[in-house]
Amino acid sequence: MTKKITIAIQRKGRLYDDSKDLLIKSGINFSTNGDKLLARSSNMDIDILLVRDDDIPSLVSKGVADLGIVGQNVLAEQAVSNKKISAKSVLSLGFSKCRLAFAKPMNSKLRSLKNKIIATSYPALVKKFLKAQDIKAEVIKINGSVELTPYIGIADCICDLVSSGATLEENNLIEFKNLMDSEAVLISPVSYRKINDKNILDLIKRFEGVINAAESKYVMLNAQTHSVEKICKLLPGADSPTIIPLQQQDKVAIHALCSEPVFWETMEQLKSNGASSILVMPVEKILN
Ligand code: ATP
Ligand code: ZN
Repeated sequence: MTKKITIAIQRKGRLYDDSKDLLIKSGINFSTNGDKLLARSSNMDIDILLVRDDDIPSLVSKGVADLGIVGQNVLAEQAVSNKKISAKSVLSLGFSKCRLAFAKPMNSKLRSLKNKIIATSYPALVKKFLKAQDIKAEVIKINGSVELTPYIGIADCICDLVSSGATLEENNLIEFKNLMDSEAVLISPVSYRKINDKNILDLIKRFEGVINAAESKYVMLNAQTHSVEKICKLLPGADSPTIIPLQQQDKVAIHALCSEPVFWETMEQLKSNGASSILVMPVEKILN
């Protein structure tokens, strides 16, 4: 009998939609309704725990969940502040991209962090950063609405998550230093090379296949035989294109899996190098 796999994902919030999407696209069927904390997959021996993102590193470190999806920012903060958090990132998932950055009021004259009061929900990461830079400053932990603290007079600046920068702008704040870049990651109680459960490894391969497919495109085009080399060089991230002879002499069809985005500019370049009938198609799954 194989062991059931438990995966912890955020119950609601910014990570939820993409985490659920990844599981569904990887072939795990399940449904969630409202406040359910546990969802059972209807087609695989998998349980999905629906929890707050802050609880995911600890659930995975204790082995309650075999895998979890969480922001690198949360994993890093907990790993620095709590010795019991030993979960390891095993795959970058490419969504929920943001950065942990310092920001100050637009009219602030602040030039350095020295002797300043910094409000943040990430005190361990900020203190580690200050220590590494040999800067003395006071760090205060605030759980929500960090962006208001300079205006109510309790901090000189903040260190918070930024994605587009729109929230900072709405609050008259300006970013001035980046502490870390973050994205959602798949975590496991042990590092990738120490995972020995074949079903878990197969599942990680499926996740990887879905992520790679999201960025990949299948390109088909026709070209003159003499321009094949030039055209293949223009195909972004194509490994080894397939060249198929066409009925018309001196012409071939080129088919390639491109692992990088194919922009209109690339297509126009291909065309000006003699390619015709250029088709760019989405890829659903890849298994390497
Ligand atoms: P929970 O109720 O599960 O504790 P939360 O309020 O702590 O949720 P969310 O706001 O849903 O968390 O954010 C979850 C994660 O989404 C963040 O930890 C971060 O990795 C990522 N994220 C991406 N962009 C942003 C952003 N602009 N602001 C905050 N988080 C972001
Ligand atoms: Zn949270």
